[in-house]
Amino acid sequence: MHDAATVRAQLEARLVALGARVDDIEATQREPLDDDFADQAVARQDDEPLDAIESAALDEIALTRQALARLDAGTYGVCTACGEPISAARLQALPVASLCIACARGAER
Ligand SMILES: [Zn+2]
Repeated sequence: MHDAATVRAQLEARLVALGARVDDIEATQREPLDDDFADQAVARQDDEPLDAIESAALDEIALTRQALARLDAGTYGVCTACGEPISAARLQALPVASLCIACARGAER
């Protein structure tokens, strides 16, 4: 059985960390490009992985917010597909999990 207060604290800490990461990326992307052409090319090349990191962080923020909403609703730790409890080991490994292991495996197929 999970402890809702502990899970909430974990998820909220994760949201803060992810939010800070997104802010950092956006601040980096807002920095004016250097006048030097070579530097500009490098700066533009660097944008792409940053975008990927940012979109991964934004995805995780969305999942984390959904997990917090399920905590509020009292449905946290219950599979959203089949309604069975999600195993404690799975929730520990993936606190934002919304599917039990069987449904997650099914969804991958
Ligand atoms: Zn399920």
